Amino acid sequence: MEETSNSINRFLITIASFARELNTAKNTVDISKAIEKVMGRFFSIESSLTAMYKDDEWQVIRLDDGFPISETDMENYYSLALERKSPSFFPLNDSDYLVILPSVKSGRLLSTFFGYVGENEKGFTQEFETMFGFFSFYSGIVLENLDLLNEVKDAAKVQEQLRVYFEMMLNSLDEGICVLDSSGEFVFKNKKYREIDPGDAVVEQIKRISAETFAQNTGQAVEMEFDGVFYSFNSVILTDDDQVLLRLEDITNTKELERMKKIDQMKTEFIANISHELRTPLSAIKAYSETINDSVESLDPATLKEFMGTIIDQSDHLTFLLDQLLDFSRMERKDLNLEKSNFNIIELIKKAKESNKEKYEQHSVEIELKLPEEAVMVNADEKRIKQVLINLISNAVKYSNKEMDEKKVVVSLETEGDEVTIAVKDNGLGIEESELDKIFNKFYRIDSSLTYEVEGTGLGLAICREIIHEHGKEITVESSPGEGSVFSFKLDKAGD
Ligand code: ADP
Repeated sequence: MEETSNSINRFLITIASFARELNTAKNTVDISKAIEKVMGRFFSIESSLTAMYKDDEWQVIRLDDGFPISETDMENYYSLALERKSPSFFPLNDSDYLVILPSVKSGRLLSTFFGYVGENEKGFTQEFETMFGFFSFYSGIVLENLDLLNEVKDAAKVQEQLRVYFEMMLNSLDEGICVLDSSGEFVFKNKKYREIDPGDAVVEQIKRISAETFAQNTGQAVEMEFDGVFYSFNSVILTDDDQVLLRLEDITNTKELERMKKIDQMKTEFIANISHELRTPLSAIKAYSETINDSVESLDPATLKEFMGTIIDQSDHLTFLLDQLLDFSRMERKDLNLEKSNFNIIELIKKAKESNKEKYEQHSVEIELKLPEEAVMVNADEKRIKQVLINLISNAVKYSNKEMDEKKVVVSLETEGDEVTIAVKDNGLGIEESELDKIFNKFYRIDSSLTYEVEGTGLGLAICREIIHEHGKEITVESSPGEGSVFSFKLDKAGD
């Protein structure tokens, strides 16, 4: 009875000390050392060899100097270990033994300890067999756990390497890259992004585009201007991570280049256009003058007057075109030099209507004036404002709808506080929304066959805008295609 309880105690103590050793084991060699130590309590192990069985091959991972069994002879013991997969005890000669302790998990041989035991008088009892069976199983579990741990560590290492690699790649790009999570928080910014250091307004857009990308579940491409700096934003969803990657690029130079190219192209068009515009009245003047010259005696006074009238009109048109060119060049040099005075704007509007008389009669457009009865005095450059009015009325007539029976232009004036608002409204062709901000650009003419049937340089509105700007005001337009347009601007009333 006492013998049994002693033996159980020894068994438990040994297991506890084995478990303690294994707790700190980091690899197969440590486990082999723990096995050797715990076995040393029972036998004098003089030297040992530990080998792992992996991919159908034995690989020695620990070998003591003086281990007496040769590599070739070991083959037999390897086979034995593989065959039995349980602790064994072999006599090598009369006095020496080999103890084999395999680490086994789920029938799989992971590593095997071969201990060379000198003089053993104790023999290999049932008690050892049970205990070593337990060691075999326990060390198998620990080994497998260590393997798993190493695999996880390896995977984490590979992941870290990949992360560093990607980060290096993203940092070497000449575009700002950032990654945002679904709550709009930044989780990554590359080097270029940090260099750009976008301001609050840009960051706000980045968050908006990222949210939009999530909402639409598709990448977005946006270009935007912030205080003269153009950025392009391109986003993609990183599906696996529920994140959005956004590319931010400063495209100001590209935009500037595009703008220059566009201006260049417009200049070329302008030169072709203006040559044509100048030639038309010149040809008319020449043709009528030649006719008069050739047959002055035979022409009746009425025809002669009509011909002379055409020559005068065409000369006026030439003067208008040359004035527009001159104004444009002044505008470019910021040299419009306003000469302000107080004058009655009602009278000026009437005069501007009169100046366009021939044009609106020719196009069968009715011009209605909705003006107050009494004089309204404004403080402005009279000549320049007349020019603006003539231009706006002339455009309203020029871009009237030929198909329409009742072509009409209404010029109205309203006063509010210290300002007057003048509006020129037509029921003509109208302007697409996408063109609205461009028509005030120099040389710009809407690219439609209808526009090109109509004479023009594309400078009129650019000059009008500059004149109104010089007065400290804005010129605005509202329009719908097919319905018509309203151009309006404000002026200061004359002080008392
Ligand atoms: P243009 O000499 O071509 O008339 P503008 O600068 O006055 O040049 O106008 C620029 C362009 O704007 C015109 O070519 C025309 O396409 C468009 N536009 C101007 N006014 C009107 C209007 N009242 N209705 C429709 N289109 C207009």
